[in-house]
Amino acid sequence: MTSIAEIELSPKGGAAFQMRAGHSLRITARSGVSLVAFNAADLGERFDQARTKVYNMKLWLDVGDKLFSKLNNPMMVVIEDGFRPYGRHDLQLGLCSSEGEGGRTACLESLVEALAPWNIPAHSIPMSLNAFQNCNVNVASGEIAPAPVHPQPLVTLVLRAEMDLVVAVAVCQSLVAANAPPVLLAVTEG
Ligand SMILES: [Zn+2]
Repeated sequence: MTSIAEIELSPKGGAAFQMRAGHSLRITARSGVSLVAFNAADLGERFDQARTKVYNMKLWLDVGDKLFSKLNNPMMVVIEDGFRPYGRHDLQLGLCSSEGEGGRTACLESLVEALAPWNIPAHSIPMSLNAFQNCNVNVASGEIAPAPVHPQPLVTLVLRAEMDLVVAVAVCQSLVAANAPPVLLAVTEG
């Protein structure tokens, strides 16, 4: 497993980078991380929460499940999930923005800033995979309720790219644990 790039995100950080098909992204964290992805060859094709749930026919992702684009193409596949004993990665809650967070910088603004080199504006950023963000779903009533968990020690989620991608990641400041260590991102071959 050869490391191609490593990024350390501060608790207020965001980052965007390119990944080749077949490369893997390792995210090591304790609390919420918002992730979106775009087809590097067509930035208009982007990750889609609803398509992902429908193609997997489930509300949460397991190892082997894929993230899909709005154009029905697989973008990433879950290779390893160290968060599974503690909670599930959320696909219900969307993406926080400063408007709903009392004006403070939120995931949407962090992603816009990170994606500036690709000229992707806020209205083109899809609802995210909310990695390490546990959310309870009451299947009888339909109610959803954020239920943050902060595993000790840090846990790792590994996603392999199924196409050439631009990926953006933001630390969710509304969920970040007190004294949280930096989120570690590593892109590796295979
Ligand atoms: Zn957020």
